[in-house]
Amino acid sequence: METTAINAARLPVMDNYGPRNRTLVRGEGVYVYDDQGRQYLDMTAGIAVCSLGHAHPVLVETIARQAATLLHCSNLYLNPWQLQAAQQLTELSGLDQALFCNSGTEANEAAIKLARRFAYVRGEPHRTQLVSLPHGFHGRTMGALSITPKPAYQEGYAPLVPDCVTPDTLDQVVACIGPNTAACIVEVIQGEGGVNELPLQVLQQIQARCREVGALLIVDEVQTGVGRTGHFFAFTDAGLDPDIVTLAKGLAGGVPVGAVLAKAEVAAAFTAGSHGTTFGGNPLAMAAAAAVCEVVRQPEFLASVRAVGQYLKQQLETFGTEVSGKGLMLGMTVPDAKAFVAEAAEAGVLTTAVGPTRVRLVPPLILEPAHVDEMAERLAHLRRG
Ligand SMILES: *Cc1c(COP(=O)(O)O)cnc(C)c1O
Repeated sequence: METTAINAARLPVMDNYGPRNRTLVRGEGVYVYDDQGRQYLDMTAGIAVCSLGHAHPVLVETIARQAATLLHCSNLYLNPWQLQAAQQLTELSGLDQALFCNSGTEANEAAIKLARRFAYVRGEPHRTQLVSLPHGFHGRTMGALSITPKPAYQEGYAPLVPDCVTPDTLDQVVACIGPNTAACIVEVIQGEGGVNELPLQVLQQIQARCREVGALLIVDEVQTGVGRTGHFFAFTDAGLDPDIVTLAKGLAGGVPVGAVLAKAEVAAAFTAGSHGTTFGGNPLAMAAAAAVCEVVRQPEFLASVRAVGQYLKQQLETFGTEVSGKGLMLGMTVPDAKAFVAEAAEAGVLTTAVGPTRVRLVPPLILEPAHVDEMAERLAHLRRG
């Protein structure tokens, strides 16, 4: 308690992230360095963001070139990099059109607005309900928070957006979806919820129910997307056919960006003036996104994510139980996640806690087997009994 108060009083930034006892100043490949010169193997990648690791030559060159060409021009004008990024994402997803914003929460905010607006323009203004899943996470703005059923995140922010429903258990979701449902939003693997792989059968049932009642299916790929699970999108691997897909985190390798992809019929509900953002789709983020997509979409790159992910998963079995996840989005159960994360950092490996007993690893997608060995060596003293 006391450290929090001291930190809050001393730092010129708000205390909403709690006390932080490391300051990072530099990164290279899968490593980051703190202000004391200590090196860490980065198994967090800025929370699944730095997909190409740190200071990747392609991204460095792209960003530098773009800064010297055109950083921002607003959406009063088209810019070629936005069209390039949209081209890549529609091609890879099979969806028809893209809308760009600046973060995951904004992408989901736009997605739920699009779902309500689609119902509205179809002459179904009563269809406003948004259904989300237990342990889901979709962001912190009012709309995204309203579909994120975590009491600790929602506390103190009432009243939330009306007509957002999350049942207590997974098997109740299908029954919640009805003629007033605008959309149901799912993650194929719940990231913040603890790296929970959702049963494919449940996801299929949800999709079938959405079709049956005329509701849209939104897949939130903010964390799973852009190669994280060893597939460019997790939904294709899960055999889903979503109406809307949202992206952010890894999309531009560290440059803030978000995207909404939708089927043409749905996308058409966003008519001129119905939604917008000043920074969204700016040339810098778009050039970075297009460059990241070009690297990640290569079949050899994705195959390597799956292979090294498999190896990392095996290694994690020796540190924790209930190891879950796909590709390089992995979680495990340990007795005390906070303690594990602190001790691992002390030993030079950055990980994150996603729950009292769950540790998540979402390293850069350029991770190699030798890095996994290095992690295992640095953490040898944390192996389970
Ligand atoms: C991180 C995350 C978000 C929120 O993204 P922000 O960029 O932090 O707003 C939304 N959905 C999922 C699945 C996420 O992992």
